[in-house]
Amino acid sequence: MPSKTTITTKILIGMVIGLLSGSLINAFGKDIAFIQTYLVNGLFYVVGAAFVNALKMLVVPLVTFSLICGVCGIGDVSVLGRVGLKALALFILTTAIAITLALSVAALIGPGQDFANAQPLSDFTPPPAPPVTEVLINIVPGNPVQAFAEGDMLQIIFFVIVFGIAMLMAGDTGRQLAQSAERMNEVMMKVVTLVMDFAPVGVFFLMAKTFSEQGIGLVMPMLGYFSAVVFCLLLHFFGTYSLLIALMAKLNPAVFIQKMRSAHIFAFSTASSNATIPVNLQIVEKRLGANNAIASFTIPLGATVNMDGTAIMQGVATVFIANVYAIDLSLSQYVTVIGMATLASIGTAGVPGVGLVMLAMVLNQVGLPVEGIGLIMGVDRVLDMMRTVVNITGDAVVTCIIARGENALDERVFNDPSAGIITEIELPHKKTHL
Ligand code: ASP
Repeated sequence: MPSKTTITTKILIGMVIGLLSGSLINAFGKDIAFIQTYLVNGLFYVVGAAFVNALKMLVVPLVTFSLICGVCGIGDVSVLGRVGLKALALFILTTAIAITLALSVAALIGPGQDFANAQPLSDFTPPPAPPVTEVLINIVPGNPVQAFAEGDMLQIIFFVIVFGIAMLMAGDTGRQLAQSAERMNEVMMKVVTLVMDFAPVGVFFLMAKTFSEQGIGLVMPMLGYFSAVVFCLLLHFFGTYSLLIALMAKLNPAVFIQKMRSAHIFAFSTASSNATIPVNLQIVEKRLGANNAIASFTIPLGATVNMDGTAIMQGVATVFIANVYAIDLSLSQYVTVIGMATLASIGTAGVPGVGLVMLAMVLNQVGLPVEGIGLIMGVDRVLDMMRTVVNITGDAVVTCIIARGENALDERVFNDPSAGIITEIELPHKKTHL
């Protein structure tokens, strides 16, 4: 009999049990060598990391074939340009709203004001953040093979779009190739389904590993900073996004948030926008009804350049560090932070922890001590998980708005609660042939 449990419910259960087991180990098993060696750094680490690798394994081929289908599906270079410009404008708009929100809340709450002598400052020196000019130049791949090998998403997207446009221009040859890309895309989607079958277990191990290392004790001394970031993330997630979905896409925000659930779980447990691309792509197409032509373009691009959650963390962190070092920020410095955090979030790769490295770029620009990053490192992992959820939700919001504007969102799919839902994944070995 087919089980009624959806894969999302199973993943959710895996996540909660992993979180609880990890927290218990953190509370009671920190000094037990056996648990640390064989469980936390053995089983949990190996299975969790292998699962993240399996997700990453999907990204490059999926984005490549899906994006080729997208470009060929749009079929018109001027429409492609319009969609691209709309996407960039919306990415920048949402990020600017996010960072403004973060700065306003942080200026009001004033996290870190009574912190100055509370804790010794760490002598953390971050790796140098790349200068803005390099970020821009590196959008164009000098060597596409290297870009594919290293999984450099922005370069891959650039190359695939140019290649897709060339396919459109190549007439019959291009059309034949597009058909092959469609087939490859279909097969890749099946590979996604296969990997998803292991997701409940993979997510369990990821959560267990993270929370056996991250106890609540780490958060306590940083509670002001931590809660300011969480508050802004929630505000942006439920406030800004709901408004945008309701006003600009004319869709029901509650349905949108509910349907995004499995992408949220993936983003939370992997803390990586990149690793969440396959799931997010599947959700916006199959559950929310956005056309592949738009989604295959905006989701990978958004995962690479649109990081509202990261910008929020950077805004609050800047104010926090300024407060700790008792440095007053002027209005023009606040404006600089808005610009720099927007650029920094474009340059941040969708992998765990990079947002913190890019924070150095923002701090440098307004003359704040970069060592301040050492203060917030301890609580960054959990915040990273939460801001990644916001990051990928922003990509889906922009996708829905654009798809709606281009008449490329199927409202019946959006409003159908069971559309695209995976109940029991049908693998050949699970079928009974009798
Ligand atoms: N982990 C984030 C992401 O992948 C990036 C960051 O803020 O570090 O979206």
